[in-house]
Amino acid sequence: MTPLPTHLELVQGVVLPKPVGAHPVLDFVNTRSEWTTRGPARTEWLASYEAFLIWNSYVGLLSSATVFRLNEQADGRSSEAAQLLRQTLDFRADLYDVLTGQATDQAFDAVARVTEKASGRRQLVRIGDEVSWELREDLGLPLYNLSLLAADLLTGSSREHVRTCPSCGWLFLDPRGRRRWCSMATCGNRAKVRAHAARTR
Ligand SMILES: [Zn+2]
Repeated sequence: MTPLPTHLELVQGVVLPKPVGAHPVLDFVNTRSEWTTRGPARTEWLASYEAFLIWNSYVGLLSSATVFRLNEQADGRSSEAAQLLRQTLDFRADLYDVLTGQATDQAFDAVARVTEKASGRRQLVRIGDEVSWELREDLGLPLYNLSLLAADLLTGSSREHVRTCPSCGWLFLDPRGRRRWCSMATCGNRAKVRAHAARTR
């Protein structure tokens, strides 16, 4: 068996990219191999609703118990799960455009609608004396949870630190202004090799 490249990891039978975005919303956007085109990517890591659930637990957005229960729900409602995955991938593309400042009004509205819907689905929950906003645990939970986090990122002070990898288009936070590439293991290394080849030509 060929070992996986170092930027990928096998998680519960699914290959996923290791997080490099320094923010879960940016890592969500980075779940396809490149954003140089809006068509299908060379590699799509969110290939199924189940893979999307596993990714959520991998990056710490959902507990493994929640993922287990949602997986059971998805088993009996496969067409609803497939539809939610399509919505998730559309949301990801529109969110990418909003984060990179190139969104049409239509793309922005689409992101806003999902987020407003998520906002309306929150419930105020009390456990002991602790009170918090929670989303219902149904198949929409992973998408709605991400959309609320995306809205926080878009309206917060981290937004100005979002950078785009010049090679693959992935996004990452760069508060100190020191990063150029999404990852030295992939794009940074390829650039080094290209520069070396140009020097020795
Ligand atoms: Zn890159």
